[in-house]
Amino acid sequence: MKLNSLHVLLTYRCNYECDHCFVWGSPQQSGVFTLEQLEEVFQQALAAGYIDEFYFEGGESFVYYPVLVKAVTRAHNLGFATSVVTNGYWATNKDDARTWLECLVHAGLDRLEISCDPFHGETAVSPLNHAAIQVAQDMLLNAGLIALTDPAEVMYRGRAAINLVNGQPRSPWHSFTACPHEDLADPQRIHLDPFGYLHLCQGLVMGNVWERPLADILADYDPQTYPIVRELLAGGPAQLVTTYQLTHDPGYVDACHLCYTARKTLRDQFASVLAPDQMYGVIGD
Ligand code: SF4
Repeated sequence: MKLNSLHVLLTYRCNYECDHCFVWGSPQQSGVFTLEQLEEVFQQALAAGYIDEFYFEGGESFVYYPVLVKAVTRAHNLGFATSVVTNGYWATNKDDARTWLECLVHAGLDRLEISCDPFHGETAVSPLNHAAIQVAQDMLLNAGLIALTDPAEVMYRGRAAINLVNGQPRSPWHSFTACPHEDLADPQRIHLDPFGYLHLCQGLVMGNVWERPLADILADYDPQTYPIVRELLAGGPAQLVTTYQLTHDPGYVDACHLCYTARKTLRDQFASVLAPDQMYGVIGD
């Protein structure tokens, strides 16, 4: 397996509610890791033996700032590289940004990634002008900006598959014969949420670490035994429509739009691998 990092969705909660959010982040959303659960994940990653980096993201990771700092501290002390992804809402000016970042730098943070663009309710900002990037550089912290600058860069899964598709050009449903973004046969990155779900793609689950150890889930992973993954590998999202005889529109904006729409329809049939509710737009408890 090529996998060497885990992307921890520290929480589904976010101070924003962006239209393009894959994970339906929202101020009303539920789900956050406890410190005890994070320790369990670190121990499971150590036992797996080949995880060497943790990304902490969300939702918005800074909404649970003390937990984030403790998570980075603990991961760093156990020898993992650490990265944090944030929308940077807290960097209102350089002095304040420095205050927020000092604890994380002291905790051993290796990299900061900031999602900031017009899709996050912000005006476009150059990396050189973002207070968090400027301060990170002053503090010799590796930092970068994740910015969507063109609607063509949007992937239409999660909330984007509902809120952003109207008026977009579409292609025939049967043209989406492959997953263009994730290596489902040999995943390079996996997201882990507060409910223990390991996601091959947001809402497409390969197992639950509260039920089975991470090392076992990864070691036993055979994509041909996963009903949705097997079809996606055989013929992309179009194969889901064909195999499960789903009603469908003539066209979709992209492969993810068809995939996400089909998976939503199939949830009752494949509840254990199409989860949790949060990934399918259920907000709150
Ligand atoms: S096609 Fe499906 S599995 Fe592939 S990236 Fe898009 S939503 Fe995820």
